[in-house]
Amino acid sequence: MQNLENGFIIKQVDFKDNDKILTIFTKKGKLSVIAKGAKSGKRANLLDLANYIEFQTIKSKGLDIITTISMRNSFHLSKDKSSLYIFYPLEVISKIDRVDQDESQLFDLLNFTLSNLYKNQDLYISLFNIKTLLYEGLLSDFTNCFVCLKPLEVDIQNISSMMGISHFGCDLREYNVRGYPISIDTVKLLRYIKDLDLKAPHLGFDIKETVLKEILLFSTNLLESSFDIKLLSKNYIL
Ligand SMILES: [Zn+2]
Repeated sequence: MQNLENGFIIKQVDFKDNDKILTIFTKKGKLSVIAKGAKSGKRANLLDLANYIEFQTIKSKGLDIITTISMRNSFHLSKDKSSLYIFYPLEVISKIDRVDQDESQLFDLLNFTLSNLYKNQDLYISLFNIKTLLYEGLLSDFTNCFVCLKPLEVDIQNISSMMGISHFGCDLREYNVRGYPISIDTVKLLRYIKDLDLKAPHLGFDIKETVLKEILLFSTNLLESSFDIKLLSKNYIL
């Protein structure tokens, strides 16, 4: 018997007649385990996606097998469309490759995101995108153009977003493509979220709907292209 561990169920696939293979995200990283009798019986509802569980495993020839399991928290929102947002951060974590890293930061970010998602889905998914990129070292500072590196304030009416935030013209020169225009309010929110302390977050102010849609679209596209992944759950949120 191994030690008690805590983690989020981020993926599950059917296995044999009545078992499932779960991917669980812990502070030490992702692990795959077999949950026997997972499709029926009293265990079944403990194993929903996004559940925060405490569990123990035993070694087997193949994947480790879950023995005890108990619920610490469950994050399912109401039955409307907003509940689909939950699948997005789970899919991101299941698809980004990180080997032998301490995952405490990303673990706390997932917990923070799932705990707050009911308040404002567009805002907290954007925050999840931006902090994930930041922790991976994939984020520019949004103060300077990511192509020419000169300050963005010089020509604030003409900001373009593609692989980052740039001047209009710089994107065309570098990539032969025009990015989408993005408003200065959205850029300010990007900077604010990037620097936000998750232990003392202040996000209770009003944000315009157009800014929320812009930051969600930009941060989701940036995350996909930076990690070179395709996210199916993107269709639920955009
Ligand atoms: Zn530039």
